[in-house]
Amino acid sequence: MGKTIIDATQAAAELKALIDDAQSVVFFGGAGVSTASGIPDFRSPTGLYSQKFKWPPEYMLSHSCYVDHPEDFFDFYRDRVLALDAKPNQAHLKLAELEAQGKLTAVITQNIDGLHQAAGSQNVFELHGSVLRNYCEKCGTSYTAQWVRDTKGVPTCEKCGGRVKPDVVLYEEGLDNDVLTGAAMALATCDLLIIGGTSLVVYPAAALVPQFFRGSTLVICNLEPTPQDASADLICACDIAKAFDF
Ligand code: ZN
Repeated sequence: MGKTIIDATQAAAELKALIDDAQSVVFFGGAGVSTASGIPDFRSPTGLYSQKFKWPPEYMLSHSCYVDHPEDFFDFYRDRVLALDAKPNQAHLKLAELEAQGKLTAVITQNIDGLHQAAGSQNVFELHGSVLRNYCEKCGTSYTAQWVRDTKGVPTCEKCGGRVKPDVVLYEEGLDNDVLTGAAMALATCDLLIIGGTSLVVYPAAALVPQFFRGSTLVICNLEPTPQDASADLICACDIAKAFDF
């Protein structure tokens, strides 16, 4: 196991040194990357949560809930998932910069907020989709996240009356094959992998790393320990936005 660094300034220096030495970097990120931008993790119930919603977040964001209780689904979705005022943080911005320099080849993310693209990243594999894309289930007309936010109840298509579904992978739904393949290829061809803001316990995404990563160096940026810590060369146990402040 590599060394664990708690001090953010030191973590940033060590991370920069590893990136400078690498040929090809991939970043694999989770909710912690977004919480650093002030987006709440919808899986972490707040005090008011139980008064407001009938079921646990895993059910509220499930395909079953979407089908059987669409009003409740969209109440939860607007209240807990959509956070359209959030801005990219230093981690998003540095990753976009590293890609522009030709150092970073891909971002793989479990987040659905589109903040990597907002920061300027081009090659982003969104394992769980994006709130920024929404399609009518009947005619395929696309709608913005703002449009969905501003509708009431179940959003219905202005052209045909069909239900508009966010392009987000709900619980019980499978991941997109092209996205999975692209993510697997990126993992298989990098020499430095940085895993950030995720405890890597959400499957099937969590299985991707051990299955495909064959590079020489693994960095983990996460406040909590993860199952991959034993094989990491460097563990930055600090705020991820600060770890990328170099
Ligand atoms: Zn339609």
